[in-house]
Parts: sequence; structure tokens; C-alpha cells
Amino acid sequence: MLEARGLGKSFGQTRVLNEVSLEIAEGEIVAVTGPSGAGKSTLLHCLAGVIRPESGEVVLDGRRIDTLPEAELTKLRRENFGVVFQFGELVPELTAAENVALPMLFNRHGRQEAMSVAAEWLARLEVSDCADQRTGELSGGQRQRVAVARALVSGPRVVFADEPTGALDTLGGEQVMNALLGAARSSRTAVVLVTHDNRVAAYADREIALRDGAVLAGVDR
Ligand code: ADP
Ligand code: ADP
Repeated sequence: MLEARGLGKSFGQTRVLNEVSLEIAEGEIVAVTGPSGAGKSTLLHCLAGVIRPESGEVVLDGRRIDTLPEAELTKLRRENFGVVFQFGELVPELTAAENVALPMLFNRHGRQEAMSVAAEWLARLEVSDCADQRTGELSGGQRQRVAVARALVSGPRVVFADEPTGALDTLGGEQVMNALLGAARSSRTAVVLVTHDNRVAAYADREIALRDGAVLAGVDR
């Protein structure tokens, strides 16, 4: 469904990605692992259409996306992708429910529908009681659950998660991972999970290990 074909990317003199190829199937949970600086985040950003590779192709459902004009790429991202980062990246002045409703508003749903679907997702992630609180006031674990709800609310094909539990303790991390993967599995959403933490990688169906910008090995779990 989502494919990288021979991706290359440099920052200055540093070759960060070197001929990276991989394929992610519908509903598959994939962990991209490797030490700090291996190129994990850069690969994720290329796949998610946030940055453009210098060489190679990113292909979604048989269609090349890395060369789309910016406006089209933004629209494609909003319709097909969700993201969860280490610190949630929510809008702190908005309530949890408003944050979760945002992607639906961008996709031209009405406010009432968006708020009602947002409430359903907050319930699913067991953070209904945070719905009317500004996300700046929430705990790290609550924020990550809200971020997971926001990533999934538009029914994306793929959720990209970059160290989604990096700011949480072990228990909080387990709860967020279970919430993320439970919701993804039930909606056949693929998840690309970037992590240097083996405990997090253990949740994936498959591990893609990166070293110095190249795929070292693919390991089925
Ligand atoms: P990882 O996620 O595996 O830690 P990254 O993809 O974040 O690796 O980074 C790989 C290398 O690319 C690092 O050396 C990092 O400093 C460098 N890098 C990443 N993004 C940029 C950028 N925007 N500008 C310059 N260098 C960058
Ligand atoms: P991580 O490895 O956890 O993804 P980093 O601290 O490496 O986090 O990168 C965070 C952000 O900073 C990324 O968006 C990356 O592109 C950017 N970045 C990383 N290294 C550099 C760098 N040397 N110069 C400029 N931007 C960088």
C-alpha cells in the first residue's frame, strides 16, 4: 500500500538516507528501529510527505506522491495520514475535543459532526473526562491519548508515530501503545512506529532496522 523505492536524502555533507526501500501493507504495524542518528525520523518524514527525498520515490496505492505539488500533497496527507509525535504536538489553547475535531474540520466536515466523532474517539481512548480541558493542562499520558485520537479520527490509511511514548513512564507508555494499536488494528490502519526502544518495537508485526541511513534487516515478529 505504501512504498519507499530507493530513497536518498542528505543534510549538508551528511548522507542521512541511502537507497532505502520498503513496503508497508494495509493494516500492518511496522517498527522502524535503530540508534539515534540512524535516519529513522527522516525516513518517517519522507514517507509521510513532510519532507521530500532527493532521490527515489514514495508511492501510495500505486501513485507516486513525493513529486506532488505542495497543495495536493497537503490534501493527500490530511485524507490519508495521521501523526503522533513524542510530545503530542497538540494545540495547547484548544480543548482535547477541539484538538481531535481539527482534522475533520480540515477535511470539510461540519463542526457538530466533528465534535461528536471527536467525543466518540476520546471515549474509546478512555479520556472522555478530559474533553473540555485545554490540552496544555493535561498530563503527558492524557495528551498522548488525545494525540492518538486526533491521528485516527479521520480514518487514515497510515498513522506515523515518532517515539510516541518517549516522554512517558513505562506504564503510561504501555497504555498509550495498547490504545494506539488496538484502535489501529480494529480499523485496519497501518502504523509506522519510529523508536529506539525495544519494548516499543516488540508491539510491531515487523521490524525494519536502520543503521547509518540503510536498512540493516527486516525481522518478522
Ligand atoms: P534518528 O531519527 O534515527 O535519530 P534523524 O533522521 O533524526 O535520525 O537524523 C539523522 C541525521 O540527520 C542526524 O545526524 C541529524 O542530525 C541529521 N538531520 C536530521 N534532520 C536534519 C535537518 N533538518 N537538518 C540538518 N540535519 C538533520
Ligand atoms: P529525533 O532523533 O528524536 O527524531 P532530533 O532531535 O534528531 O529528534 O530531531 C528533531 C527535529 O530537528 C527533526 O525535525 C529534525 O529534522 C531536526 N534536526 C535534527 N538534527 C538537526 C540538525 N543537525 N540541524 C537542523 N535540524 C535538525
